[in-house]
Amino acid sequence: MFDVIVVGARVAGSATALQLARAGHRVLVLDRTTFPSDTLSTHLIHQPGIAALARWDLLHDLQATGCPPIERVQYEVAGIRLEGCGRGVAGQRAAYAPRRHILDPLLAEAAAKAGAEIRQGCRVTKLLHDSTGRVVGVEASYAGKTIREHARLVIGADGMRSTVADLSGATAITQHPRLTCAYYSYWQDLPADLELYEAPDSWVAAVATNQATLVLTYFPQSRFEEVRADAERHHLQQVRSSAPALYERMQAATRIERLRGTGDQQNYFRQAAGRGWALVGDAGHHKDSITARGISDAFLQAEMLAKHVGVHLDRDPALLDQALVQYGAERDTTLLPGYEATLAVGRLAEQPASRLTLLRRIQQDPELTTIYFDMVAGAATIGDLFTTKLLASTNRNRPDHAANLPCP
Ligand SMILES: Cc1cc2nc3c(=O)[nH]c(=O)nc-3n(C[C@H](O)[C@H](O)[C@H](O)COP(=O)(O)OP(=O)(O)OC[C@H]3O[C@@H](n4cnc5c(N)ncnc54)[C@H](O)[C@@H]3O)c2cc1C
Repeated sequence: MFDVIVVGARVAGSATALQLARAGHRVLVLDRTTFPSDTLSTHLIHQPGIAALARWDLLHDLQATGCPPIERVQYEVAGIRLEGCGRGVAGQRAAYAPRRHILDPLLAEAAAKAGAEIRQGCRVTKLLHDSTGRVVGVEASYAGKTIREHARLVIGADGMRSTVADLSGATAITQHPRLTCAYYSYWQDLPADLELYEAPDSWVAAVATNQATLVLTYFPQSRFEEVRADAERHHLQQVRSSAPALYERMQAATRIERLRGTGDQQNYFRQAAGRGWALVGDAGHHKDSITARGISDAFLQAEMLAKHVGVHLDRDPALLDQALVQYGAERDTTLLPGYEATLAVGRLAEQPASRLTLLRRIQQDPELTTIYFDMVAGAATIGDLFTTKLLASTNRNRPDHAANLPCP
């Protein structure tokens, strides 16, 4: 009997297992995949996520992989160019963008070192229930056999197409249509920190990752079928039209991997927990990747869930259920603003004049630019911009500006 079974061993699952194992709980982690392996995702971890890695004493391990710090951001829209970096979080001013075949095993190894048992190549197929309907374990296929394991709590960290969410009947509490489709690849000899180019119906990014630069393009979801029919051409054409200087630099660089992409980036909050089960990471909450919040938000949820359930795991199940309700409430309150900002950016709409006026103002002032990049990282809010003396005079226009300044 385990205290916790975690289904999924990537950023949400291993981070959750790490917290609970370090707190002394008996943790079993099951993943159908084996590590090291890649997954469909790019890599930017904003400063709140990096601060979490630092709290967990894993930032040095990440730096030791050779993943370069991202210390400058460049953002261009409608001829406006902001350049700088945010104030950061808890002393962490740099972002990082590690490859997932490096980051995910690093987290899984840390969880194992903390005492979690990790079984790779193990696919969960069923939830086990007691006579009252409470979830008390899982059934899985592992090494050619069907196994059953029991725990006080089963945590689904098994991604957007979560088996645990499906089997537990987790309902969608908020849902919006898909907004974009995304394509990316890796380039050598293309120096970059973090570059963001926004235009109507287009978003382009270049990000430094382990030993290469990632180039990423976003298109409206309505164009998915057309783009997918000739993704190579559309990807390069998008860079050429929205980020011509980046496109020029790519002519002297070498693409080193195939183009990857997806049109299936759902937007939802699912019920976070029920009797004997909980969801973390994409399993419980997913949004378009355009604002690059998924990994950092998975880390936040891991800490949040461990904080709420930790002391109740070996006590009265009713107290554990209460703690799970509190986890769900905190998750929703904490992540809703970033979700709404992501929906606003993901619409890839033409920028209203009021937003461009505000961005021009920010462009002229290093302090405002710093706050703006904190907003991009999810470490500041629109309110922080309006509390500076420079913008105080425009405060009476705040609601209008605030509505038009989604945080990319
Ligand atoms: C194109 C794209 C770009 C992105 N870019 C960024 C970015 O730059 N920055 C960022 O922060 N986020 C980004 N994201 C989002 C980010 O990838 C996700 O938020 C993150 O991967 C969520 O991690 P997770 O651990 O919840 O789920 P996942 O990474 O999906 O891991 C789920 C794990 O569960 C396992 N699993 C599933 N079902 C079972 C089962 N039945 N039994 C056992 N194991 C199972 C899987 O094998 C997998 O290992 C991007 C996403 C996409 C699609």
